Amino acid sequence: MSTLVVHAGEKTAEWKALFNAAAPDLRVLAWDEPFDPARVDYVVASRPPEDFFAPLTHLKAVFATAAGIERFLARADLPASVPLVRLSDAGMAEQMSEYALYGVLQYQRRMNTYAAQQRTAEWRTHPPRARADVRVSVLGLGAIGGVVAASLAAFGYPVTGWSRSVKNLPGVNSVAGDGALTALLARTDVLVNVLPSTSETRGLLSAERLALIAKGGYVVNCSRGDQLDADALLGLLNSGHLSGALLDVFAIEPLPPSNPLWAHPNVSITPHVAAITLPGPSVEQIVANIRRLEAGEAMQGVVARDRAY
Ligand code: NDP
Repeated sequence: MSTLVVHAGEKTAEWKALFNAAAPDLRVLAWDEPFDPARVDYVVASRPPEDFFAPLTHLKAVFATAAGIERFLARADLPASVPLVRLSDAGMAEQMSEYALYGVLQYQRRMNTYAAQQRTAEWRTHPPRARADVRVSVLGLGAIGGVVAASLAAFGYPVTGWSRSVKNLPGVNSVAGDGALTALLARTDVLVNVLPSTSETRGLLSAERLALIAKGGYVVNCSRGDQLDADALLGLLNSGHLSGALLDVFAIEPLPPSNPLWAHPNVSITPHVAAITLPGPSVEQIVANIRRLEAGEAMQGVVARDRAY
């Protein structure tokens, strides 16, 4: 019988119960129960403490309870020989699509302008914007970003997606490469960032690149805060070059109360909830991968350590 240890913070008991129901043939333990570290086959974890993995000498796989796994790659106690598996959609793509759509609608329907007018009881109309005139660019076309781009396209927006390799997604103009990004930003009204955090993407949305976005543009950052220069964003909002931003992720979380983004009238802030992990579909996906591994088949969603996603 294989042993699986769950370390999912305050949700550990919930995950353990779901694994017991989905895979009665697995021995499922919470991280704070007694176990023989040399007999642990699988770990399912969110943020285990430093050195948690060190005594687990016979691990067959580690399953992250998230799509973003940069924290796991930075750990010294997790050998590169152990497959690290991330969640692949598992109900997050739909949530992220809703989040991105909300940002696009904020821009299209000039909600920041009307909110400002409401504060001074000002009744004044502005020209409408048609969906066809709102150029949306989605950075990252993976398990989540690909669905975000396709769903915005299905809603009627002209959508271009940027990724490493060119994709074939319904209604989405797909581009790749650094030069393509520079050209794309200049044709962007709403930028939606769904890239993973890697050495290549950290700092990607620099002051120079953000300034390329079309005048009056809007930024939705729903992947990781370390990819975007928030000070530069604030400067571009204050100068009027950008009209607003919807931000879910920050370089430091929780975002410190003193950060001026909190009080900016054209910035909407959420506390890293754009797409939360759903334990039910996640457990289903992890159990399916354990079945594949035990049948000698390839697992899905294994992180390629050389590209870090
Ligand atoms: P995937 O790994 O499935 O896809 C990543 C995409 O980014 C791929 O299309 C890949 O291109 C592209 N990409 C990676 N590096 C580069 C690069 N250097 N240049 C251009 N394109 C690049 O990720 P997901 O879609 O599952 O998730 C994306 C991120 O969303 C996660 O890593 C996580 O950080 C974030 N997230 C945030 C949540 C929140 O609540 N705020 C919730 C869930 C996820 P290619 O396909 O060509 O390889």
